[in-house]
Amino acid sequence: MTEANDDSFGIEVILEDGDKTAPCCPHGPTLLFEKISKGGEKGRRFYACSACRDRKDCKFFQWEDEKVSEARLLAREAENRSQRPLLTQQESCSRFKKFASLPLDEKKFCQDCQILLLPKEHEAHSSHRSTAVTAAQLRRPSVLLRPLDNKKSNAQYLFTDRSSHFLLDTLAGLGYRKLLCVGTPRLQELIKLRNLEQKHEPMKSLLLDIDFRYAQFYSQDEFCHYNMFNHHFFDGEASRAVLQAFLTECDGEKVVMVADPPFGGLVKPLANSFSLISQTWRKLRSSDSSDSDMPMMWIFPYFFEPRILECLPSFTMLDYQVDYDNHLLYKHGKTGRKQSPVRLFTNISPRGFVLPKEEGYRFCSVCERFVWSLNKHCVKCNVCPSKDGREWKHCSACEKCVKPSWRHCQSCGRCALPDHPCGHAEGREGCFNCGSPEHKRKACPVKDAHRVSRHHSNAKNGGKHAPHPSHLKAKAKRKSGAARRAKKMAALSA
Ligand code: SAH
Ligand code: ZN
Ligand code: ZN
Ligand code: ZN
Ligand code: ZN
Repeated sequence: MTEANDDSFGIEVILEDGDKTAPCCPHGPTLLFEKISKGGEKGRRFYACSACRDRKDCKFFQWEDEKVSEARLLAREAENRSQRPLLTQQESCSRFKKFASLPLDEKKFCQDCQILLLPKEHEAHSSHRSTAVTAAQLRRPSVLLRPLDNKKSNAQYLFTDRSSHFLLDTLAGLGYRKLLCVGTPRLQELIKLRNLEQKHEPMKSLLLDIDFRYAQFYSQDEFCHYNMFNHHFFDGEASRAVLQAFLTECDGEKVVMVADPPFGGLVKPLANSFSLISQTWRKLRSSDSSDSDMPMMWIFPYFFEPRILECLPSFTMLDYQVDYDNHLLYKHGKTGRKQSPVRLFTNISPRGFVLPKEEGYRFCSVCERFVWSLNKHCVKCNVCPSKDGREWKHCSACEKCVKPSWRHCQSCGRCALPDHPCGHAEGREGCFNCGSPEHKRKACPVKDAHRVSRHHSNAKNGGKHAPHPSHLKAKAKRKSGAARRAKKMAALSA
């Protein structure tokens, strides 16, 4: 299956269900990409890493029709092996048990190597920075570990207590007893802490994450080294079995997934992985529910709504603003700070979500769901239309609600920003990048998360692209839009 309008400017991900196997990089099977130029002519297809958007992080590149020499295949395999974790999940688990039983003054964590140290290893790390680890700290790996801050592929933004307890309380309230944590290490650790406190309904959890530093703190049935962009389990069958056991609902223990992927990630491959998880879940259930979907929550910025709904039509976006400890701008809006653009997308009925009144949410009795206080119900549209946390206004000419900063433009026949390139042909075609008729490519919010730089240069290096007027134009345009984009991007990477 292929799909136009991918997240990337002019780069499309091709997800084939055929039997052609993709070559592997250290992050598992690569994804197949295709460069599309404006005229619609298709470029040469190539394989690139599913997880890393920057070639600095994974340099894998291969044309689809490229003949790869035996020597290069061997070198590639060696490279893939060299990037594997040194310990198996079982080994790190038994290390953890040893570590936990040490006296306090022998419990050390090496900050430089990001590992727990056993006494016999202290010597070898003596020139490194290390800290003592209390029992309480050992239960909070997401505090102990330094958040990865790679801006492009793997910046780790950890939930505030407010957001994590909201999520856990809500899901527990909806009757879920098992939480599949995909890229949500903090939820996993809070579940374990809450179980210890015994104030809440006990919950089970399984963490799937690409950051194998977390393997140090969990047993085999609590952590799997996983890539959510290609549904790849680094430990193969053993991990698949762990996931299957977890997704099996016995004694009425309902399972739900909560995923918080890196925001630069491509929507289509993520949606594909989540669908595969749902499929696994469905197969494990009794035959009568063969058409139901696994309950899921996908945490992502609001401007990805059209893309997510396109890939997963049964999802809706909730108004709840998710905020993060280590992200200056992703804070809750109420105190006048900048509002977080991050929302919850879910296939669970939005009616089930009670958003906290004291944080500025209200119940809309017409829509029968909780919305942000500034999201006023429009009687003409019969919805609470705001997506971005601001109060939208109705335009009678467009017959819909639009952002407060937009004005109706007579010559374009639609609402747009006052400084839009008026009457430009591109405007009538909509956005080349995401297909939306609402904006031009220049203003496309999704484009901020594209993979252009890397693949663009690859294509150039391949020498296959004779400079084509439309390419040159696109390039010039990107430059002129750089200032505006940088401003938008600041909200994503600060
Ligand atoms: N808010 C979450 C953390 C989100 S940060 C919390 O507080 O728990 C994104 C998470 O996704 C990180 O844990 C990161 O390690 C993980 N991640 C990033 N890329 C991934 C990939 N390709 N596959 C699986 N997990 C990934
Ligand atoms: Zn890779
Ligand atoms: Zn060290
Ligand atoms: Zn309206
Ligand atoms: Zn209008």
